[in-house]
Amino acid sequence: MTDLALAVDIGGTKMAAGLVHADGTVQSHRTVPTPREGDAEQVWQPLADLLKEVSAGVKLKGVGAGSAGPADRSRGEVSPVNIPSWRGFPLRARLSEAVPGVPVALAGDGVCAAAGEHWRGAGQGQANLLVMVVSTGVGGGLVLGGRLVQGPSGNAGHIGHIVIDMEGDPCACGGNGCVEAYASGPNMARWALANGWCADKGGGPAVEKSALELAASAREGDSIALQAFSRAGHAIAAGIVSTAALCDLSHVVIGGGVSRAADLLLPAVSEHMAGHARLGFLRDIHVTTAALGGLAGLVGAAALIHEPARYN
Ligand SMILES: [Zn+2]
Repeated sequence: MTDLALAVDIGGTKMAAGLVHADGTVQSHRTVPTPREGDAEQVWQPLADLLKEVSAGVKLKGVGAGSAGPADRSRGEVSPVNIPSWRGFPLRARLSEAVPGVPVALAGDGVCAAAGEHWRGAGQGQANLLVMVVSTGVGGGLVLGGRLVQGPSGNAGHIGHIVIDMEGDPCACGGNGCVEAYASGPNMARWALANGWCADKGGGPAVEKSALELAASAREGDSIALQAFSRAGHAIAAGIVSTAALCDLSHVVIGGGVSRAADLLLPAVSEHMAGHARLGFLRDIHVTTAALGGLAGLVGAAALIHEPARYN
């Protein structure tokens, strides 16, 4: 009996695959860049090659995959916003063809990050947990009553697209006023640039200036950069308090690239939470940073296979 799951994590920038033990340790993993151009097969091929390479000669318990969303778990398909050629791409069927004879489980990337942080990361032991991934976009997942909540489509807990301002900024999803419109790394940088932030350390296209560059400016006291973090923190706080009111949460874990600037982000989140969390049951919400870093998606994808009673 093997204890290895093949875990797959598909994002708009890179695709990762790794072997994960039943205790959650990642034995090995590799990544390839997600092709920026090409049709659906041209995006699939490097992933197929990667899976073959990582799993060569290994007896597997199953394949767990997390993908940038939206996912459609009931159909086994994904349509990642940042991979335009994958619309209704039959990922579960393709994984089954590539790795035949073992179970294949599919979930959205935010849901997998939540499973990872709950199983082996900063959310261990919490019966009710929200995990937020603040990065190029804003995603997340929910654990309620000790069990990962996926929903029929696999997108439950997608806090990036809950509406916090009815007249708010336009969002990449086509709506407006979503948490992501304020708190994703690119949207933070975009807002700062539009409001006069002119830090220029390294050049490159203005809209690709990262939240980490913004963080460096904020730490030097740049007032626009500091306001961008305050604004993002406010959006995250509003999302957290709303979710906590709905689900009676006490613990929140924040991961993703922007959370590497936790020294700036977490104080802004706490400050603004105090303004919104007025009801008694909302006043004691613990917010911490993720523990698994970039591996949360892979560990969570493996949890779908290793701990299906809780996570799949
Ligand atoms: Zn949205």
